[in-house]
Amino acid sequence: MTQVSEEQLKQIEEYLKTLPEPERQEKEKQIMAQLEQQGPPQCPFCLMSEGKIETTKLYEDEHFIVVLEINPANKGHTILIPKRHIKHIYSLNNEESEKVINLLKKFSASLSVISQGVNILYSEGPASGQKFEHLAINLIPRYTEDSVKIQWQPKKAEKTELEKVKQEIISHLPIEEPKAPKIDTDNIKKELEEKKKRLP
Ligand SMILES: [Zn+2]
Repeated sequence: MTQVSEEQLKQIEEYLKTLPEPERQEKEKQIMAQLEQQGPPQCPFCLMSEGKIETTKLYEDEHFIVVLEINPANKGHTILIPKRHIKHIYSLNNEESEKVINLLKKFSASLSVISQGVNILYSEGPASGQKFEHLAINLIPRYTEDSVKIQWQPKKAEKTELEKVKQEIISHLPIEEPKAPKIDTDNIKKELEEKKKRLP
């Protein structure tokens, strides 16, 4: 039975290659022993949510945790993780979505004080660099002349091409989840007051 993904095995192999010979053999033995003990692979973000992996927790509620990345891109690299094992940002319900925006607002505000800027990074799908099938949103504080690179080569696009892509994207937009009706308590109170006044 394979206990780790091919991707993880590759990473382990790459890491082992960097070690000098006697150390490499020793480390390889250690890792193999660990893997045998672990059983089937588990989602690291689920384990963090369940408190089975130690984290430096900045926030926790019923649905989310916010923790410091253990291997930060920069000082203060923070990750927002839903406790539910969901893969995509569009799997969040309305209540959770609202919470995510509020948490991103709060933590980016704080991080922007301790740094000179913040990148919010969400990766989805194998081409994006998403490592685990569990939604995670990275808040990466930026410092002038740090070594973090989030960049691409801008390409030229014709107007007709942009129009075509626009149609393609719009046609795939999901149907919005219906919102719970909001009860306007202030207005109800006002109406009651008015009614009371009209009573003889
Ligand atoms: Zn998970």
